Amino acid sequence: YREKLKKNQIPVIEEEVCEVHVNAKQQLTAIQLASGKIIEAEKAFTAFKGNKLNNELALQLGVQVNENNHVVIHPRTKETNIKGVWAGGDLVAHSEQVTISMGDGTQAAIWIHKRLLGQPLPYD
Ligand SMILES: Cc1cc2nc3c(=O)[nH]c(=O)nc-3n(C[C@H](O)[C@H](O)[C@H](O)COP(=O)(O)OP(=O)(O)OC[C@H]3O[C@@H](n4cnc5c(N)ncnc54)[C@H](O)[C@@H]3O)c2cc1C
Repeated sequence: YREKLKKNQIPVIEEEVCEVHVNAKQQLTAIQLASGKIIEAEKAFTAFKGNKLNNELALQLGVQVNENNHVVIHPRTKETNIKGVWAGGDLVAHSEQVTISMGDGTQAAIWIHKRLLGQPLPYD
């Protein structure tokens, strides 16, 4: 990948970012590096390694997790192995996107509603 970046004249800068500059509308204008160098930019993408998985509550409840400690859910209902416990979003294995989390929640709500009404779920 580094070769490809080099070939396309895309520089790789491995330096600490110490300030993010914004305009009066809070829009990004530049990134300031620890060396003092300022890189003007309109768009940026942040990527932090080591995102923490907040699965403590699920573990306390005895919910089944996979090899990466993500909560295992039924693909259709989003219910966990424990009846009445649902999960979605970043807690389960997926691609960490807001829209997916929202979809999981919406889908789970349908089946939570059915449970509350005493209707059987597909695997009951
Ligand atoms: C820097 C960054 C950039 C991102 N950019 C994008 C992007 O551009 N587009 C995109 O689609 N996604 C992006 N994501 C991913 C997106 O933010 C997540 O996928 C999404 O927020 C997950 O939603 P969630 O509801 O599953 O979890 P969260 O948003 O993490 O919500 C979980 C909530 O539960 C709370 N909580 C945890 N444990 C407990 C507990 N025991 N009791 C009570 N409350 C608890 C937490 O405090 C938190 O408020 C980005 C993420 C990061 C970190």
